[in-house]
Amino acid sequence: MLVVGLTGGIGSGKTTVANGFSALGVSVIDTDQLARELVEPGQPALDEIIAVFGKDCIARDGQLKRACIRQQIYSDAGLKSQLEAILHPKIRQRIKTLLAELRETYCIVAIPLLLETRQTDLVDRILVVDTAEKEQLTRVAARDSLSDNTIMAIMQSQADRNTRLQAADDIIVNDGDLESLAERILELHTYYMEIAYDH
Ligand code: ATP
Repeated sequence: MLVVGLTGGIGSGKTTVANGFSALGVSVIDTDQLARELVEPGQPALDEIIAVFGKDCIARDGQLKRACIRQQIYSDAGLKSQLEAILHPKIRQRIKTLLAELRETYCIVAIPLLLETRQTDLVDRILVVDTAEKEQLTRVAARDSLSDNTIMAIMQSQADRNTRLQAADDIIVNDGDLESLAERILELHTYYMEIAYDH
């Protein structure tokens, strides 16, 4: 099975692209979703997170206050590393388990921090969603209640655009409308189906 790692900066359009592949019947492993599942009440990772961030980061219903955590880690690199040390090995293990279960021609694994967390060994190809930084800022600001400063801090903590483009085997330039994005996804889907047979 050909494994395509989908990555890109915050708000570049990864989820939109992943949904596009899904709509074509492609299996998509979404690591953001895996991360959310790992911190559900009762999961061991949640206790480890409470030990670092304290009980204040848990809402009354037992769910993790994600905004509270996000705010804290972008102003404290040490806390960010601690959170990553808890989550990343568990996410990596989960990806491996899910990949081993799949019986497909090819699949997509959406890993926002694919390059930053050095997970490229999990995938055969790297697909980068590339969007101008100004556009990322506009789209995230329209979607989330985050300040421009917070969004910029997140962007700066991620690999820069050139690093991503250099690592890419395939690129989706997401600077047009959703229709042209869907066309590009279909084009890549056809290409992946073709090369997967020789894989
Ligand atoms: P994050 O890193 O924050 O998870 P993401 O990379 O998954 O973001 P999306 O959530 O797919 O990005 O896209 C960000 C926002 O931009 C969404 O509201 C989405 O609907 C919108 N968007 C993405 N691509 C386009 C496009 N080509 N035209 C218009 N809106 C778009």
